Amino acid sequence: MPGTNLTREEARARSALITTRSYAVELDLTCGPETFASTTTVAFDCARDGADSFIDLVATSVQSVELNGVQLDPADVWVDSRIALSGLQQENVLRVAATGAYMNTGEGLHRFVDPADGEVYLYTQFEVPDSRRMYAVFEQPDLKATFAFSVIAPAHWQVISNQPTPAPVPAPTAARVEDVEVARWDFEATPRISSYITALVAGPYDVVREEVITRAGTIPLGVFCRRSLRQYLDAENILACTKAGFAFYEREFDHPFPFAKYDQIFTPEYNMGAMENAGCVTIVEQYVFRSKVSDSIVERRALTILHELAHMWFGDLVTMQWWDDLWLNESFAEWASTVCQAEATDWTQAWTTFATSEKAWAYRQDQLSSTHPVAADMVDLASVEVNFDGITYAKGASVLKQLVAYVGREAFTSGLRAYFARHAWGNTTLDDLLTELETTSGRDLGEWSRLWLETAGVNTLTPRLEVNDGFIRSAHIEQTAPAQWPTLRPHRLAVGCYDLQHGRLRRTARIELDVDGELTEVPELRGRAMPDLLLLNDDDLAYAKIRLDEHSLATALAQLRAFEDSLPRALMLGAAWDMTRDAQMPASDYVRLALRALEGESDSTLLRVLLMQLSAAARSYVAKANRGTVHAEMAAGLRATALAAEPGSDAQLQLVGAWAGAATSSDDLERLRGALEGTVPIEGMAVDQDMRWTLITGLASAGAASEEEIQRERAKDNTAAGREKAARALAARPTPAAKEEAWLAAVEQDTLPNAVVNSMALGFGRVHDPELLRPFLPRYMDAVEHLWNSRTHAIAEALAVGFYPAALADHELLEATQTWLDEHPDSPNGLRRTVSEHRDGVARALQAQGADRPRPTAR
Ligand SMILES: [Zn+2]
Repeated sequence: MPGTNLTREEARARSALITTRSYAVELDLTCGPETFASTTTVAFDCARDGADSFIDLVATSVQSVELNGVQLDPADVWVDSRIALSGLQQENVLRVAATGAYMNTGEGLHRFVDPADGEVYLYTQFEVPDSRRMYAVFEQPDLKATFAFSVIAPAHWQVISNQPTPAPVPAPTAARVEDVEVARWDFEATPRISSYITALVAGPYDVVREEVITRAGTIPLGVFCRRSLRQYLDAENILACTKAGFAFYEREFDHPFPFAKYDQIFTPEYNMGAMENAGCVTIVEQYVFRSKVSDSIVERRALTILHELAHMWFGDLVTMQWWDDLWLNESFAEWASTVCQAEATDWTQAWTTFATSEKAWAYRQDQLSSTHPVAADMVDLASVEVNFDGITYAKGASVLKQLVAYVGREAFTSGLRAYFARHAWGNTTLDDLLTELETTSGRDLGEWSRLWLETAGVNTLTPRLEVNDGFIRSAHIEQTAPAQWPTLRPHRLAVGCYDLQHGRLRRTARIELDVDGELTEVPELRGRAMPDLLLLNDDDLAYAKIRLDEHSLATALAQLRAFEDSLPRALMLGAAWDMTRDAQMPASDYVRLALRALEGESDSTLLRVLLMQLSAAARSYVAKANRGTVHAEMAAGLRATALAAEPGSDAQLQLVGAWAGAATSSDDLERLRGALEGTVPIEGMAVDQDMRWTLITGLASAGAASEEEIQRERAKDNTAAGREKAARALAARPTPAAKEEAWLAAVEQDTLPNAVVNSMALGFGRVHDPELLRPFLPRYMDAVEHLWNSRTHAIAEALAVGFYPAALADHELLEATQTWLDEHPDSPNGLRRTVSEHRDGVARALQAQGADRPRPTAR
């Protein structure tokens, strides 16, 4: 029984047999709050007369199936999300009438009611396999076709899809719709695209329109959001970034923008950052800023905008044949958007952000037992769904960055151009890209691809220096690999020499070389005076963990703020974080280092990541015996730095948030309440709605905000965001009853939308006293398999990740998790993977705790 799965073998067999031509999809969105009517007409060819195949459909009910003029009984042919098709002819027409269900999980056609004004908003999210929740479809990326949507909806709505929105025509008002004028939108057929990038967005969205001049002519641009958010939409910033991206990509790819228009819609209750639907990009609504956000978030939004735009070429115009190359799709968009951001926007430090957040994500994921080669073996849809991870996005992009260094930027760009020219509107595999790059670079990429893409794990590079009288007598780079992933790889990288001059660490030499094998000599260093600091992987070309020699580490720790550029500073801090995670630096020391590093940090993302790592170290990596002292030090340090931060600055915003998250002393709580109520304001800091929630949630998690106060705030902030933030604050209260309430609502009932479930999980896991979560350890282990099997993928994952009592971080948690794994060898792979990642996290925490020797607390 396939359930809702589909294997790669089935997909291969199907595309060998079937060639899809066109879809006409008629949708009626006026059937009430639960369901919609969907009629699909598909024209397709079959290579073998009389052959059998199937089409995918997930629906509430199927009214009729007509194949080549013959009515089939839906009860006979529709089983398990598939409609069986037999006796196919060379040319076929299939017509399926069905009733589909609106989702509240962010998968398929999602329906949302705005608490602010009661308006209904719909959007689709189809990747990986959910277009079949809206219409009957051969759901696999290499069966491209044209899609013509026809939509009946309330006349006052915006209806947005892949093609330009046509003028609506009046539709006969059915009796079922009371007092609502109804209209019909008949969209023109799309070019030949994959079903997972088709889209429909509908509702009374507000819009800002613009145009951009491109090589394909004038392309209309639209930026949409819910009405109640319109006042916060900074469309100018979004459009400026979008236009910069159009110019950059058309030039780099030497191929005109492939679609007729480009709309970007901010959608509610969205599971991910954004989705590259052809000409109809959906973006998580938190990127419409109703309150002040940190610059790092604005930067992240710009990157997301550019990421989706890059997909219009790489992904939408040229598409992976099967999900094996999902990594290439995502990694390319990550890499291209970062290049674009660094070279064509004001975010010139984009590579520092990449090193700080993207690579840290990759290194973390690559050291879990679940890691996998970048080029993954996606045997079925179930394995694809759990693979939107740090390998697929972040490691892949890091490896592409390394590949660009390896073949040279010019050869890379010419290879890309040839690739787009040759494969436009088609489907490809990795080999198609490598072939072009080999031609333009003259390098044989077979071995490179095998070592980098077909094996997992991260190498560590350590300087081995012999220094005598201040001079380097010999210099080598040692490469190691973890026992379970023993591959050593070729690395193109730079070594930087930094010397202290007038209090600044200036780079006095840069040596670029190929590192390969266990030991690589750096002859250029021999005979040189030992610099104050020697930095491996300077400029962050390589994908590898780096270590510092003792002398350089001492310089770095003493001179945290002395780097002129943010990138080497980020690399140095990243190395310290890796050492802490690898139990080579006591976590208490790391906390103190991070607290000092915060002071004066001007790079917004670096600051944001430091704050997250600081908190993670203090909660999980510091030895139990040190935890009280270290926590107090952290809270005091955050308070001092927050209150000393420049009034109104980005740093102030972030630091106050972090302080509110750490505050437990009555002194701190009183001060924060003073800030919330305006009795003791923090100079220059606006207490806007989201800052109110930050403070209230901080107070709530320390037991200093009551349920009544949270409910009052929610009533005042009667919005989708308010609902989510209230759920989080309520779940953060440090009482057994509050944790129980969150558990019951999210885990044991199945009614809450995805966004609320996610917020609750965040609040649930946020504890100063981990013992609050102890009772949920056995309950989690008992419930998780059933949850996984009974919920949609998005919700199952949110629960399995968010309600795991990770904060316990002790031996009991490790044992219980390992026992579950031992006793559930046949659980679904995705779930086993999630649980084994939890196990790895606890094991690492215990190791770090073991290395955190008790020591005096003096700073
Ligand atoms: Zn993407």
